[in-house]
Amino acid sequence: MKSDEQTGDFIRTIIKEDIANNKHDGRVATRFPPEPNGYLHIGHAKSICLNFGIAKEFSGTCNLRFDDTNPTKENIEYVQSIQEDVKWLGFDWEDRLYYASDYFEKLYDCAVQLIKLGKAYVCSLKADEIRAYRGTLTEPGKDSPYRDRSIEENLKLFDQMRRGEFKDGTHVLRAKIDMTSPNINMRDPTIYRIRHAEHHRTKDKWCIYPMYDFAHCISDALENITHSICTLEFEDHRPLYDWFLDQLDFPCHPQQIEFARLNLSFTVMSKRKLLKLIESGMIKEWDDPRMPTISGLRRRGYPAKAIREFCERIGVAKRDSVVDMALLDFCVREDLNKHAMRVMGVLRPLKVVIINYPDDLVEEIEAINNPEDSNMGTRNVPFSKIIYIEKDDFMFDPPKKYFRLAPGKEVRLRYAYYVTCVDVIKDENTDEIIEVHCTYDPETKGGSSPDGRKVKGTIHWVSEKHAVSAEVRLYNPLILDNSEDEKESDFLKLINPNSLEILQGCKLEPCMVHSKHEDFFQFERLGYFVMDKESTSDHFVFNRTVPLRDSWAKIQKKS
Ligand code: ATP
Ligand code: MG
Repeated sequence: MKSDEQTGDFIRTIIKEDIANNKHDGRVATRFPPEPNGYLHIGHAKSICLNFGIAKEFSGTCNLRFDDTNPTKENIEYVQSIQEDVKWLGFDWEDRLYYASDYFEKLYDCAVQLIKLGKAYVCSLKADEIRAYRGTLTEPGKDSPYRDRSIEENLKLFDQMRRGEFKDGTHVLRAKIDMTSPNINMRDPTIYRIRHAEHHRTKDKWCIYPMYDFAHCISDALENITHSICTLEFEDHRPLYDWFLDQLDFPCHPQQIEFARLNLSFTVMSKRKLLKLIESGMIKEWDDPRMPTISGLRRRGYPAKAIREFCERIGVAKRDSVVDMALLDFCVREDLNKHAMRVMGVLRPLKVVIINYPDDLVEEIEAINNPEDSNMGTRNVPFSKIIYIEKDDFMFDPPKKYFRLAPGKEVRLRYAYYVTCVDVIKDENTDEIIEVHCTYDPETKGGSSPDGRKVKGTIHWVSEKHAVSAEVRLYNPLILDNSEDEKESDFLKLINPNSLEILQGCKLEPCMVHSKHEDFFQFERLGYFVMDKESTSDHFVFNRTVPLRDSWAKIQKKS
């Protein structure tokens, strides 16, 4: 047998063997089965990349199937966003878009068949009684007093359930397996429950809905899925998955394979928790750029390719682990470095007056659009007497190794000239520095001097009269601590109060008036940025996707 290393991972190893053995006639068919009860997150991206990726690699197919069996939590908005997100990630289900709700009639027939086989019964215990009868991990369960109802009675009651003759919670249909099984999932699990709720697709046609374990394996079989890939929490459900398909004698019996779900540091990942963030009002929208949702990452400027690369790098394993958010950011930087146009932008502007520069002169200075890709060419950036630099790039009383601007110090303005600080204007009352005066050396145009003197620091700048003003939003981790097991009620307390920082009056190069939502930028020395969806032609808004280096980790360490 070949090692996983040679084949990719343990799932691909299984599939290769199945193909070699001509199992399922050598066919590979997978599916991605989201429940439309929230927006997709980066964890789902792992599952999407895996299922669609495997289908592509083995010339198979991957279906998109909505697992829409729980009408009270699901809706059309989620159905639409999920399709948009899968497409945006770069995957195509072609004409294979399915809904578990399309199978409601067939699922009902399967349930009837189980009753006829004496393998299912209508149980009229209350929910808490069912729980009590189920036993525990150490104690076996007890048979329900309704377990031995006749087939005729069960058929009649189940039919009445369907017709809406009973209230919610009064009866359920259960599989008749084994109340003493060491696997609790096998202790007569519920197959159908009564829910007088309108479904977003079938409307009021049904008032009984199938449970996940029952609907899922049958949906897989109906779609002729060969490999049903899911996350580890379903490992203990596998015997049930197989049991249903064995009883019902489907021609196709997919193989369920479990892998470890993706956990990421400094964020939350379950849809339930993400929904709580929205419901609590702490976060307004699912696509808030702080959210680990695919739509949030997209809005924040994460390229789809970087997310796919991340999913590939983390690989597929059988054991749970937590992946560092820094790896995702690394993949994003690596991708954007290749494609993002470089521009100059000043986030916290400080005015610099070049006192010996002619008042009305404007020079067009050539700048490189992307040093990683010469095909992206060059552009002209206007330079004039008054410019903005970053507040951080000036210090009145600098420590020894500070190579940026300071009184008496010379620094290189990116692509332009060397300037020397000759005067500092402070606010009389607050002592705040409001303006810096410099002289420039006309001999240094382009950034080098004929006498070859050394200037260590290079800083970015924007000409005052040409600058485009913008709002810039900076994002920090959503969660300060990362104890995923934190109690539900507690996790809201872990939200980072500084996850969003909004800067107004940032100054950008004039070419930025032409930027579009889908353009990626590197603001030199600062990070990667993208226009936010709230940006308008008279109020530009940019999101910082990621800083150039991980400054957050440093800040954390210090405090
Ligand atoms: P959540 O716990 O976030 O609500 P879920 O498992 O309930 O997720 P589904 O809509 O049922 O969400 O998931 C669709 C598919 O995505 C399933 O096959 C599930 O196993 C997979 N999936 C969900 N979360 C992750 C994750 N963190 N890592 C990898 N796969 C995941
Ligand atoms: Mg689920």
